[in-house]
Amino acid sequence: MTEGTRFCKNCKRDVSTANFSLHEAHCLRFLTLCSECDEPVARKDMKDHQTEAHKQVRCNLCCRSMQQYQLEHHKTKECHKRAMKCKICELEMPFNKLQEHLNTCASRTERCWECNKYVMYKDQKKHKDICQNSGLSYYKDVNFQTRNAYTNAKFIDPTVIISGCKQPV
Ligand SMILES: [Zn+2]
Ligand SMILES: [Zn+2]
Ligand SMILES: [Zn+2]
Ligand SMILES: [Zn+2]
Ligand SMILES: [Zn+2]
Repeated sequence: MTEGTRFCKNCKRDVSTANFSLHEAHCLRFLTLCSECDEPVARKDMKDHQTEAHKQVRCNLCCRSMQQYQLEHHKTKECHKRAMKCKICELEMPFNKLQEHLNTCASRTERCWECNKYVMYKDQKKHKDICQNSGLSYYKDVNFQTRNAYTNAKFIDPTVIISGCKQPV
């Protein structure tokens, strides 16, 4: 038997092809779409659904009134007082405060350790990639020290002195 699904128009769900005719018969008989929210609901539960899902409730954060079934979506995606995290400093605050906070948060500056320039907090990550001194300064220092060490070594290396000054041992 081939695996596959067919879309049931009645309940708006994908149903496995194998069970489709069975499902459809059953579905048409027992399920119906709620005219208000388009959710498949068992016919016998429609009254309950209407009273439960479509009763008026208030969001306890912003006090907006809406129907019960909308509340969850509202609280997670819409409510302007839902808690959101600032993506810069990760502080949690109500959504309606976030934009203002983001502006201040984003314009805060911090000194870059590498180049001593003040970099906006929001640009820190970007700056690390483009900072002229990042990594380089360390590398340069190391190079410099190695060269010094090398020069010193040359200076005290007897064989070099011999060859350099052509003096007998
Ligand atoms: Zn169905
Ligand atoms: Zn409904
Ligand atoms: Zn709300
Ligand atoms: Zn912040
Ligand atoms: Zn820098």
